[in-house]
Amino acid sequence: MLSTIVRLLLPLTCAVTALLLRYLLADHPLNSNNQLDFLLLQLPYILLGLATLLALLSNHALEAGISISLLCAYWLIQTYLQSPLNSQPASQVFYLLTLLSPALMITYALLPQSSCLQLQALLPILLTPLIVLLVAGLLAINQQLFLTSASSALSNGLMGTYLSALSWLLYFAAISLSLGLSLCRQQSIHNSVLGCSLMSLITYGWIQLNSVSAFMFSGMGLLLAINLTVSLLQIGYRDDLTQIGNRRALQQTAKTLRGPYSVAMVDADYFKKINDQFGHDLGDQALRVIASLLKQTAEGGKPFRYGGEEFCLLFKGKSQQEVLDALETCRQAIANYDMVVRDKQHRPKKLKEGEIRRGASRRKSNLRLTVSIGVASSDSANLNGSFNPFEQVLKSADQALYRAKASGRNCIQAA
Ligand code: GH3
Ligand code: MG
Ligand code: MG
Repeated sequence: MLSTIVRLLLPLTCAVTALLLRYLLADHPLNSNNQLDFLLLQLPYILLGLATLLALLSNHALEAGISISLLCAYWLIQTYLQSPLNSQPASQVFYLLTLLSPALMITYALLPQSSCLQLQALLPILLTPLIVLLVAGLLAINQQLFLTSASSALSNGLMGTYLSALSWLLYFAAISLSLGLSLCRQQSIHNSVLGCSLMSLITYGWIQLNSVSAFMFSGMGLLLAINLTVSLLQIGYRDDLTQIGNRRALQQTAKTLRGPYSVAMVDADYFKKINDQFGHDLGDQALRVIASLLKQTAEGGKPFRYGGEEFCLLFKGKSQQEVLDALETCRQAIANYDMVVRDKQHRPKKLKEGEIRRGASRRKSNLRLTVSIGVASSDSANLNGSFNPFEQVLKSADQALYRAKASGRNCIQAA
């Protein structure tokens, strides 16, 4: 819950900071002969260029597409919208930007993420440049194109802006869709789309404000760069399968330990057999279940995937005696968990038949998971003169786990 709130605060913070800086630094039109003004005008190109580079290097095709789309939009604003909006081609460019920008944000929110090395990545990456080329070609053939619609939209802008009702509607759809998706899927792409839709709406809605585009597009570049950096850090420190910290994250956390702590090594029992009997996919699903149950039931403990079917629980500030109850709760929660196995290949085609079979399989437990646990604490392990005390505690917990396996599994042994 807390991480969702923090995640949602980021686009808002970028938008508010960009607005504040706009009021503090640019109450006059930016003059490109002044060094600071020149830097402010170029800042969106720098930040969006950086975001594009980060997205391409880290294989985030959608983010690369959004950054390129924003670079094109900023270039269009700087090139064509520095003259009165009712002149030509400013009116047409503004009209098209106010419709295409939210429409593209909706598209990016809905497109599936793909690696930049895949062929389908070409669509999000090249979408905006292709649209710009197409529109430029059409305007070259007929300079009056979109002129009537653009003029009528400008004179009928809603809520004190030059935005048409259609544009407001598209922005409303883009913002609510990306907000909904970032709440339920928690992927950084939706968070980026949310912030960019918001800041793009502020830019076009209040386009008459001096230099609003320079600050807002810098805010969008910053948001994309931050979200991409966070994703990269998560790749390094998060286990993809179980979505908990990996061994590197555990070692990083261990460096911050002060005072007493306990470590429990948790190993799934007979996991090889589970894979052999039910298949690797179900084995993966079982590992997700164990990680999720450890997260829910290990009170005061933080779970990490140590490797394979082995997990580690780190209890900061707790002695061995204090964590035994929490570990017993975890052990029982995993042992009592009913994992329903459904045979996808032989799934019945008829809905009714499927319901009957599903009901039957729910009543009958198909797969039982158990874990063995070994626990050790900084005060129980022999740390005298140890060069790396955490490694020593981990080793003691591992020895205790070995004893738990030897004494029949599905139990806890303390060092
Ligand atoms: P024990 O009770 O002694 O721990 O027996 P075990 O079978 O769990 O232990 P063993 O070390 O012999 O086998 C571990 C198995 O865990 C083998 C490996 O295929 C499986 N495993 C490791 N990582 C994964 C994974 O990410 N997904 C799946 N599905 N299986 C995994
Ligand atoms: Mg095992
Ligand atoms: Mg093992």
